[in-house]
Order: sequence, then structure tokens, then C-alpha cells
Amino acid sequence: MRPAVKTAVWLGVGIALAGAIALYRHYDVGHLLTLENLKQSRGTLAAAYQSRPWATLGVFFAIYVAAAALSFPGALILTLAAGAMFGLWVGLMVVSFASSLGALLAFLSARYLLRDDVEARFGKLLAPIYEGVRKDGVLYLLTLRLVPIFPFWMVNLLMGLTPMGAGRFYGVSQIGMLVGTAVYVNAGTQLAAVRSPADILSPALLGSFVLLGIFPLLAKAGVAWLQARKVYAKWQKPAHFDRNLVVIGAGAGGLVSAYIASAVKASVTLVEGHKMGGDCLNYGCVPSKALIRSAKLAKELQKAESLGFTGTQGTVDFAAVMRRVHQVIADIEPHDSVERYTKLGVDVVQGHARITNPWTVEITRPDGSTQLLTTRNIVIATGASPFVPPIPGLAEVGYLTSDTVWGLTELPKRLVVLGGGPIGCELAQSFARLGAHTTQVEMAARVMVREDTEVSDLIAASLRADGVQLLTGHQAVRAEVVEGEKRLIVRSGDVETAIAFDVLLCAVGRSPRVAGFGLEELGLPLTPRKTIETNAYLQTLYPNIYAVGDVAGPYQFTHTAAHQAWYAAVNALFGRVKKFRVDYSVIPWATFTDPEVARVGLSEAEATEQGVPFEVTRYGIDDLDRAIADGSAHGFVKVLTVPGKDKILGVTIVGTHAGDLLAEYVLAMKHGLGLNKILGTIHTYPTLAEANKYAAGEWKRAHAPQRLLRWAQRFHAWERS
Ligand SMILES: Cc1cc2nc3c(=O)[nH]c(=O)nc-3n(C[C@H](O)[C@H](O)[C@H](O)COP(=O)(O)OP(=O)(O)OC[C@H]3O[C@@H](n4cnc5c(N)ncnc54)[C@H](O)[C@@H]3O)c2cc1C
Repeated sequence: MRPAVKTAVWLGVGIALAGAIALYRHYDVGHLLTLENLKQSRGTLAAAYQSRPWATLGVFFAIYVAAAALSFPGALILTLAAGAMFGLWVGLMVVSFASSLGALLAFLSARYLLRDDVEARFGKLLAPIYEGVRKDGVLYLLTLRLVPIFPFWMVNLLMGLTPMGAGRFYGVSQIGMLVGTAVYVNAGTQLAAVRSPADILSPALLGSFVLLGIFPLLAKAGVAWLQARKVYAKWQKPAHFDRNLVVIGAGAGGLVSAYIASAVKASVTLVEGHKMGGDCLNYGCVPSKALIRSAKLAKELQKAESLGFTGTQGTVDFAAVMRRVHQVIADIEPHDSVERYTKLGVDVVQGHARITNPWTVEITRPDGSTQLLTTRNIVIATGASPFVPPIPGLAEVGYLTSDTVWGLTELPKRLVVLGGGPIGCELAQSFARLGAHTTQVEMAARVMVREDTEVSDLIAASLRADGVQLLTGHQAVRAEVVEGEKRLIVRSGDVETAIAFDVLLCAVGRSPRVAGFGLEELGLPLTPRKTIETNAYLQTLYPNIYAVGDVAGPYQFTHTAAHQAWYAAVNALFGRVKKFRVDYSVIPWATFTDPEVARVGLSEAEATEQGVPFEVTRYGIDDLDRAIADGSAHGFVKVLTVPGKDKILGVTIVGTHAGDLLAEYVLAMKHGLGLNKILGTIHTYPTLAEANKYAAGEWKRAHAPQRLLRWAQRFHAWERS
């Protein structure tokens, strides 16, 4: 809308609102719009309608439209009044049209006055809401109208901020509100007949109120039933179920889902097509952390002289390093093994699972035999696999991913790591420390783009100090072999550079595993990020099919997969009694570079982008006694708090063992403890954990009560005099 028009509309609405408020006050409308007053004025109102029916109807209609359009309170009393004055059918007609028209005016006001500003401010955050409204807006609105959990005026204004068409809004509103309006108007006709308190207990009035009470529940159940019917319509439901739950995938998400199901004595089958433990154990967290341990020692050996040692350079035996990596996997394997889960009561089946209908899973075992299992619920926990970008020549030249890099037995002389995210940084640093000539290529202007710029800068400096040739702002455009030498061509601006390499490791992200096991046939919708679309209870389009972990997003961590698994398993098994919304309010994560980067809650950039007011408190770890003694005095603790309060909005820690240090802040945020509580907690001296307390101390110093301190100073001066 053009600014001049917008100003004019604002002015018009402002004047109308001011006028309405003045009239509201002058006639004490708040007092008039009470049940008691309505009962008292019933005779006058009815008489007015008797003597001048059209004028009374007209005035009532106008008042109702104005009240609805300006979002004034009193719609309920006005609706009851319509029943009392005009009777059921005329009252229903008047209120139905007046409320819908008023709602439309409020909707249009919000759209033309507020939507641009709201979009400008929250554009990115609104995208999923807009997408939902585009897809299911009519149903949402119908539900909101039928089930009055949200106030009438709020629905009008909020819907005005969405992309829904005005005609559709009006039509759905009128239809959706019709039954509710009829119930209220009918109650008004009964109310008009009340002459003494005893009348209140008349069966008809009681019936009206009971209707009012149970109507939202009936409507909600009806909408859910209709939705479920539509989704399940083309499938034949089995007469009996073999299992309460079938879980597909035995990574973090699947293992925890199955564990919980067996703990509560449900009959559960866990199907794994490849290795128990999934990516974390076999290709992800565990091998990468084992490699990082060896790489860290390589680095420490280089620094040994500074700790008083000589002749300790050491030689990397890469094959031995990788043997240890596999030994670590083998040592942890029993935690996730078939034997352990079988003992826990889980029916573990090794094979490829395919969902053939919403209640049936077909399992193909390695020997080709198949088994069909009917189940009341399914949890999809199929994880993600490395994404390989379509770079011309890459497939021909050959590349490794996080799935295949653990098969290396020789240290690559020249390694290219594609990707500057957490996995790329962890692996590039490790290989460089172990002696590979490592080049890391990142398209974005900095590494670890999810973190604040200062974090990226620190990690980039650390990578470079470890010998990584870091090329940010460089896009890989093709791979080729020239005279037997593999080369990656990268472009920055108009300049192309060739990087010769022996091994290329592709670490540019992970794609959810959504293909080849029946989702296409079920028509399960995916999000724009290609994860399975789920609701707040982790239910997919089919309410008995749940999704957790990397395949569901929005996070790709082992601990978030496990966190979601609890909700999915409990909702699947007990959802008919009570369902729980998955809680993403406090999600921590860490990247295990050196220094480590750990975060919970908002970063500074996110808070700014979301328009959340914040204060920053920073403590430099270079000041910390234990870090100085350890020779690891670098990094910082950065805490974002609500301005003027100690409530924590987010924490970023960069430093040695940052991932462990973060736990105290995670606990504080989860349980609503502020910085004062952290400051008031004894921290053992000398530990790295003291950094958390010192950060809280920095905050306290900045918020010291200056006036009180001046008085204290005077008091002490007086004591000395
Ligand atoms: C190099 C690397 C380092 C990482 N480091 C960390 C870290 O430090 N901390 C952290 O929190 N996260 C880390 N991650 C991420 C972590 O590994 C994943 O977030 C986690 O494994 C997700 O668990 P999941 O249960 O969703 O899936 P997965 O662990 O991927 O498990 C899915 C399983 O489903 C099976 N499956 C798939 N389809 C079928 C089918 N149709 N039938 C039967 N089985 C099927 C697969 O074989 C697989 O075993 C790292 C990842 C990588 C690659």
C-alpha cells in the first residue's frame, strides 16, 4: 500500500476508534453490555423491535458490525441480545452477517495497515506459517471459528496478516461461525424467558448452556475425525495389530524410541537396514571425536617444548590412528547392539523396512525373505546421508564423504575438504594436524555461518594456525584430471583457481533419508528443507506415523534425535490419553574444533534478526587461571540477557572443553535460573568451569547499584572519620 494511502487509512481507523471509545465511555457501554443489564433492558429492547422492526434491526446490525470491526469486547452479550430481541431465526441471520462483515473489516484493517510492517520485521519467521496457511488455511480458519480457543477479534486480526484471500476469509468465517452463533442466539432466546433465579435451572436453558460447553469439544473432535478420515480414506485398516510400535532405523532417534516403548511394556519392533547405532556411532560423532583425539595429541606434541619437554615431535602412524578410531566404535557398539536391545525387550530385526500402508511395515531381510508387521504406530527414524552437490566432474574424479572417509588407511598427502560447516571444520583441522596438506573450500564468506562472525573469525584463525589453507568465498565449479593429477577448480568473483589434490572430502551438508521406503506412496509431505513434515507432536500427515531425528529436523544432532524420540514414543503409545508438544526451547550444540564452539539459545546475530532486545556480557578465557596453567588461555564466554535482567537468552562459549562448560548454562536456561544464581554458586578452583561464574560476575559488575554504592562509600568514610 502506498504510504500516503496508508497514512489516510490509519487516520480514518484512528478517528473511528477514538470516536468509538468516546461513545463507549460516554454511554458506559461496558456496563450496558452485561448479562444483568441485558435481562433488565430486555423489555425495552423487545418493545423497540416491536414498534420499529427495520430501524431496530438496522441499528443493531450497525452496532454489531462496528464492535466486531473495531475489535471491541461484548460480542457474546450482543449475540445473546439478538436472541432475546429478535428470536432464533432473525437473530441468527442478523448476527451471522454482522459478525462476518465486522470480522472482514477487522481482517482488512490488519492486512492493509500492519501486514507490510510485520512482514518486513519477521519475514523469515513467517515463511512456514504462510506456507501452512496457503496449504491448509481454510481448515485452520474453520477450526478456529468452530473451536473458539482464540478470541474472535484475535482470529480476525491474525488472519489479516496471512496470505489468505478476503473472500475466502469471509465465506469460511460465516460458515464456521454459523453453528456457534446459533447456539449463542438460542441461549439468548432462553435467557429472555428467565424471570426468576429458579428459571435458570429450566431444562431448556440448561440444555443451551450444556450445548455451549460441549460444542467446542464436539467441533474439535469432528474436525479431527474429518481430517483423519480424509487422510486414511484410501487405506484398509487391519483388524488386528501385531505391534504397538514399529521403529524404522536404529540410530539415536530409533534406539531411544524403541527403548522407551519397551520400558513401558509396549510390543515394539526396531528395524535396521545397515548398522545398529546409525550414523553417530558408525560414521559421525564417535569416529570423528576419536580422530579429533589423535589430532589433538599431534598438536600437543608440537607444543610439548612449551611445557618443558624436548624431542617429543612424534610421527603419525595414520593406519594406527584409524585402527584406534574403529576400536573406539567397537568399544561403544555394545551400547547400541542387537543383544542389548533384545534384552531390553525390543524385537530387533535386521532388514530394510518399507511402509506399505499407514499400519503395515514390510521388512526385507538380508537373505531376501520378507516379513509383514501390522502396527498401531510407526516411528520413522531413518536419519540423513551426506549431500553431494552436482559439481561437474566430481563423480568421475571421485570423492569421500563422512560415510566413506573412515575407510582411509593412508593419510592423504593433499586433501581438499569441501564445506565450512561444523563437520568440514572438525575434519579439516584433524587431517591438517595429522599432517595432510589440507585445503578447505567454503562458498560463504566465513566458516560456521550459523555462529556469530567473531566465532567464525576465531575458528578460521585456528584452522589457519593448524596449517589449513582456508578459502572462504570460493565456490567449487568443477573437478577434473589433468595429466593424471586430480584438480578442483574453485571460483571467487571472476577468478578461477585450480587446487591439486589426492583426496577430496565432501562435507557440505546432509540430506534427510526420505526415499525408497514407502513415503512417496503414502504421499507424506516434505518441508522446503526436504525433511518429513511433522506437527508439534511429531506426527506426520498420518497421525499414527511419527518422524524423529535427522529425517524430521529441524536439528541434526544425536541429542535432539534422542530428545524427539521421547515425545514420539510417548505420544504414539499414550497420545489418546495425553499428548506432549516437543519442547525446543533450550537446544544446545557443540562443534568439536579446537577451540570448541558451544551454544545454547540465541546468538547475537539471531537476536538482532528476530528483533529480540538483548544485552551482551563477555568474559575472556585468556584471563582464566586454569586456562593459563593449561596453556589453553583463549576464547570467550558470551552471554545474552534480557536488558536490565539476569534472564539468559543465549550463550556462546569458545574455548577448550566449551561443550562441557555449556552444560551449566543449559541447566540454567532450562530451569529459568539467571546469572545471579550462577554467580551465587561455588565453582571449584581452579577449573575451566569458573569461566561461567566470571561471566556472571561481569554481568553483575555492569549492573551494580551505583547509587547504593555511593551511599556505602559515604558510610565507610563516615566510619573512618
Ligand atoms: C561426521 C559427523 C559428525 C557428527 N558429529 C556429531 C556430534 O558431535 N554431535 C551430535 O550431536 N551429532 C553429530 N553428528 C550428527 C549425528 O550423527 C546425527 O544427528 C544423528 O546420527 C541422527 O540420528 P538419527 O537417529 O536421526 O539417524 P541415523 O543415526 O542416521 O540413523 C538412521 C538409521 O536408519 C537406518 N535406515 C534408514 N532407512 C531405513 C530403512 N528403510 N529400513 C531400515 N533402516 C533404515 C539407517 O541405516 C541408519 O542406521 C555428526 C554427523 C556426522 C556425519
